[in-house]
Amino acid sequence: MSKNLVHVKYCILGYGYASLIAYHKLLKKQKHENVLILQNKKEEFFITVEYQDILFSPLPIFPVKESELYNSDLFANVPKQDPITVSFSEFANFNYNAFEMKKGSLADFMVKAQGIDKNLCLGAKQWGEEMFSLPFSQVQSKIKRHYVEPKGNTRIGYLNGQSLFKYAIEELSPKVQEYSSIQRINVLEKKIHLQDTVISYDNLISTIPLNYLFQLCGLDSNTNSAFTGCHFYFFTYESGLEENNMIYDCDYISKIIRIFSIRDDFLMVQLNGKAYNKVAISEIKDRIEVLAPSIRGIEYARDLYLPMCYPLELISDPDTLERMTYLQNNNVLPFGRFGNWEYSDLHELDWSSLDSIGV
Ligand SMILES: Cc1cc2nc3c(=O)[nH]c(=O)nc-3n(C[C@H](O)[C@H](O)[C@H](O)COP(=O)(O)OP(=O)(O)OC[C@H]3O[C@@H](n4cnc5c(N)ncnc54)[C@H](O)[C@@H]3O)c2cc1C
Repeated sequence: MSKNLVHVKYCILGYGYASLIAYHKLLKKQKHENVLILQNKKEEFFITVEYQDILFSPLPIFPVKESELYNSDLFANVPKQDPITVSFSEFANFNYNAFEMKKGSLADFMVKAQGIDKNLCLGAKQWGEEMFSLPFSQVQSKIKRHYVEPKGNTRIGYLNGQSLFKYAIEELSPKVQEYSSIQRINVLEKKIHLQDTVISYDNLISTIPLNYLFQLCGLDSNTNSAFTGCHFYFFTYESGLEENNMIYDCDYISKIIRIFSIRDDFLMVQLNGKAYNKVAISEIKDRIEVLAPSIRGIEYARDLYLPMCYPLELISDPDTLERMTYLQNNNVLPFGRFGNWEYSDLHELDWSSLDSIGV
């Protein structure tokens, strides 16, 4: 059976914030019909989630007030909101001497940069005890950028339960084609082979995880694609915690990393993905009541497990770098947190790299 052939100037592979913002930037020089987003039917779209009549952004994603992205026309029609408020519970039950620390590990870096403090305890809860032996170089880089040499990191809060990034992209109506699987990508012919369609493109921007892109392009690689996930729990409550409060839990015994009040009556709890299904809801609820003592009428709503949230090691091996250059020389741009395999926020992505493929 012959396949449909579709030609498009710009194809964006993957459907998340990086794709949608790239689409917005492409529209400055391209017509809407020149850009096609390909979305995998099997991957859920987590920009908003619904619980009863509450539509909310499940990931705590905040634009940074000082950033070029937040000050660009992407946010021109987005309502203003105040920054989030950040606080920390008491630093407790963290016995630093119980760990054997290797030179060059993430823990070694953190002790040298920040000392033995609540950050180290939070780090061990977030990244696991492996941070005492492994470098987790992506995390080191992020800490350097955000906390050791900060360039302004004021995080703007949610509005009506949703990230301002959601408001920024909601007016866009890109052309989106769903697919169930990609058979292969022929980089030299510039063609993506789907089950019943072949997409021929001039330029491809890929936000799917870099190692999957390599596989689809027939490039083997030894890229260190270690990553870690998160388990989120959501609770409704009657009163006692205003929206946009982030509270970090610095007690090492508690499994909670942080809680964030998405609205005045709905909050998120973040746990390490490795705690998936290992912590009782009653334990989480009791701890929330300690972290936010004024809270009243708290009820469990739902959870969300995301296995891939943070890439852990920087890409430095020559083979991977060579393959990335090969792709770029053939008009394929790996892009975004997973496409580029970097622990970055949206305002840190190199948006000018879109120019390199002729935008
Ligand atoms: C807890 C947490 C807090 C964060 N806080 C912030 C913040 O404050 N500010 C900020 O800017 N950023 C923040 N981020 C990062 C933010 O989530 C990312 O920058 C943003 O979601 C990246 O968008 P993206 O489009 O690159 O990735 P995604 O939205 O993940 O899109 C990647 C695409 O790849 C597809 N895909 C995944 N796996 C496969 C597969 N196997 N095969 C094919 N396709 C696949 C997905 O379906 C998706 O379409 C945070 C992230 C987390 C986890």
